[in-house]
Parts: sequence; structure tokens; C-alpha cells
Amino acid sequence: MSNPYKTRKGGATVTVFVPYDCQNNCPFCINKREYADCTGFSLDAIIESIRTMDEITPYCDFVFTGGEPLANLDALQQMLDVIPTTHKVYINTTFPVQAHTTLDEMLAFTERNRDKITCMNISRHLQKYVEESPDEVIARIACPTRINCVLYKHYPAHKLPEYVERFLKYGIPVQFRYDYTETTPDNLYEEENDRILQDLRSMFTYKGLDGCRMRNGFHFAYKGLHMTYHKTLPYSTIVETDENGVTYDILYDIVIKQNGEIHSDWTGVPLDVEAYRNVVFEPYDLHVINGTVDF
Ligand code: SF4
Repeated sequence: MSNPYKTRKGGATVTVFVPYDCQNNCPFCINKREYADCTGFSLDAIIESIRTMDEITPYCDFVFTGGEPLANLDALQQMLDVIPTTHKVYINTTFPVQAHTTLDEMLAFTERNRDKITCMNISRHLQKYVEESPDEVIARIACPTRINCVLYKHYPAHKLPEYVERFLKYGIPVQFRYDYTETTPDNLYEEENDRILQDLRSMFTYKGLDGCRMRNGFHFAYKGLHMTYHKTLPYSTIVETDENGVTYDILYDIVIKQNGEIHSDWTGVPLDVEAYRNVVFEPYDLHVINGTVDF
């Protein structure tokens, strides 16, 4: 049996795995294997679980990921339509080139949903793993956007300034990401042996660091463009005993799987939904650790 749940004010972020796949095979992808067998995938069950989470935490953030959320715009619309505007909504996408949906149709989707989507996080890596839609198209997305870039294994560091210039042209902020399967509590805040951090420090202006028990962001500026280097642990539950001797499972992320099952972690642990209805809230422990992160 799990410990009683605790989470931050507003509720843990709810990540929804869309019930349809992408067309890619990125080497660092850990989601892909979940789409190998689509038996039991259910849009209706996912929508039901979205409603449940909205009922329990009406101010939590939702993140859509995959697979490829934009591979089925009708299904994505149905899921977005059950989320009230009290929530922030993020979509992780490659903004793919697809045979069945044109880029104009995808841009029209962002226009229709511009008030619902808080930010679209577009994957664009230093090495190309997918067929990318043109940058000019990304610049025309109607809702706020951010570029996500995983710096994987032996990435070509010398290409970083040129890569950043590519998005500077459109003023789209960039988030670099550590391969989170490699993150541990010991190296989350470790700086000296972090090659990515050292590369970014040597090329861009370091501004500050914010973070919490689970994740952090090192902030950089380059010609006015905001960039972040994000690290997070590969799980999302911290077990901690408070000053009264009560041990809690502190949840950062809740996951709605492709079959609608709700999990309390990325690691396959089912959420005890009834217990989560009695979750204890604590202030969010994300805070500025040094410098400036808001510029
Ligand atoms: S596009 Fe995303 S889901 Fe698809 S293989 Fe790449 S990382 Fe995985």
C-alpha cells in the first residue's frame, strides 16, 4: 500500500499519453515501446480520466505527449474540449510533416485553440531525427511556443550558437534538456562534471538557477533570447517523513496512460484515485536558487 499522498498547491501535473503514435524513432525515446501494441488504447477512457483529474484538482497543469498529439487533431480537440480554462495546457509535439494532415490544418488548429493552449513545446534537436516542418511554419503557430532540444550523448557542441541563432530570428525561447534517464538525485544539481552546463556557460550568458526536489532549470541569455537547461529525475514521487512522523508520497507528475489508466508516476505505479481525493497540499518548492530566472 502506498503512503498518503501529498502534492504541491494546485495539484500534480497531469501528463496525458495520446492514444496514437508518431512516425519517428528518436534514439532517446522511452515512450515508443508503449506504442508497439495499441491493444486497449481508448480515447473515451482517457477523456473520462481527464474529467476525474479535473474534478480532484481543478487548477492542475495538463501536458499532452505521445506518440504525437498532432497526429489526430479530432481526438486532440475532444480531449482539449473537456479541460476547463482553469488549467494550463501544454502540448509536446514535433509539429510533424504528415501525409494525412497539412501544415495549414495544424496551424488552423493552433489558431482555434489559442486561448486553450498555454504553450506548444516543439522538439527540434541538434541532430535531425525526424522530418521537420520548416521553421517559418513554427513561427506562425498561433499560441505561445518553445523549442525543446535534448542534448543526447555526443552531441556536436560547436553547433550550439548556430542552432540558437535559428530560433533567435523568430524570438522563440529554447529549452535544452539532459537525457533524464541519466539523472539521479546526486547529479541533479551537480555542476562541475556536467558537460552540457559547461558548454552552455562557455557560449552563452548564465543568468540564474531555479529548482525543487525533482527538477531544475539553469537560465541563459543570448542576444536577448531566453534559454533554459532543464534537468529532471526519471521518476516523479519523493517519499518523505514530515515533522509529525507521517510519511508521504509527494507526487509531482500524474500520468494518464493510453488506455485511460491513471498512474502516480512514470514508473508504472497505479494512482489510488480515492486516496488522491484526500491529498494534502504543500507550497510548491520550486524557487530561485541564485541569480535571475525571469528576464
Ligand atoms: S517524436 Fe517523440 S514520441 Fe516519437 S520517437 Fe521521437 S521522441 Fe519518441
